[in-house]
Amino acid sequence: MSRSMDPAELFHLLRSGDRAALAQAITLVESTLPIEQVRAEELLERCLPFAQDSLRIGITGPPGVGKSTLIDAFGMLLIKQGHRVAVLAVDPSSQQSGGSILGDKTRMERLGAEPAAFIRPTASRGSLGGLARRTREAMVLCEAAGYDRILIETVGVGQSELDVDHLTDLNVLLTLPGAGDELQGIKRGIMESADLIVVTKSDGANTARANAAFLDLQHAVQLLPPRAHGGRAEVLACSALMGEGLDTLLDRIAQLHERFQANGHLASRRAAQEGWWMHRTVEEGLLQAFRTHPKVIEALPALGA
Ligand code: GDP
Repeated sequence: MSRSMDPAELFHLLRSGDRAALAQAITLVESTLPIEQVRAEELLERCLPFAQDSLRIGITGPPGVGKSTLIDAFGMLLIKQGHRVAVLAVDPSSQQSGGSILGDKTRMERLGAEPAAFIRPTASRGSLGGLARRTREAMVLCEAAGYDRILIETVGVGQSELDVDHLTDLNVLLTLPGAGDELQGIKRGIMESADLIVVTKSDGANTARANAAFLDLQHAVQLLPPRAHGGRAEVLACSALMGEGLDTLLDRIAQLHERFQANGHLASRRAAQEGWWMHRTVEEGLLQAFRTHPKVIEALPALGA
């Protein structure tokens, strides 16, 4: 193990903006080795106080909807405003297939070349809930490393996307132009957790279909329950390829952020999320203790379990 894995040293390097240290720190929190988990805990403790000024944005949509194209363009706009952008991809597909929907191609080329951006897929090992937990920890590390806009990218088909709602401040759902069935692959819970719904690829031959989808979605959101902050999702349309509609998306996100800060929603949402994760940790710990207890291991076969 390299000397720089010492949590105190890693923390100082990470705070000084050392990208290699940040990458190494994320690898540390992803480790399943007990000794590294202890180090990861120590590192995370040090990093937690630096999370305050960040905005955590969930970006969800099925494969091909245009996530990487949008994040690439949108991330560049954020950087132009002086922000530092971290993109963390949660990829549930990789657990089953060993392959990956999000990590298998050159994605976000402009953003990838930016010193003010950091892009990282979440490792595929572990349970579904574990994916979101590791993303949460990676997010805390990115914030301590000075990234103040965290984009959490998911495909919107599995349980871990619902968990993602427990780590973001607001969520953007991307949908394809093509009225009606474009939402079929998206779980209702994910639709309900959206603060902004964006019809992508609203350009060229897609424009008419994009407009139809936009109107359909405007009706559909009226049928959803309001979000915890009392508001309903707003529907937007954009073309990341042509750079259209992205300024509006940027504005809406900034407005929501301002509103959530002013009315206390941001602070109460984060506090509730902390509680949620604490309960999850306790539950998982108890379940683990139960499953690994020698008497349980001995008794289970007799119960046919
Ligand atoms: P992801 O799988 O959700 O990350 O989707 P990608 O960003 O990789 O985009 C999938 C395909 O849609 C690619 O061929 C993109 O070039 C195309 N695409 C993405 N955004 C747009 C857009 O705004 N307009 C058009 N016409 N095509 C787009």
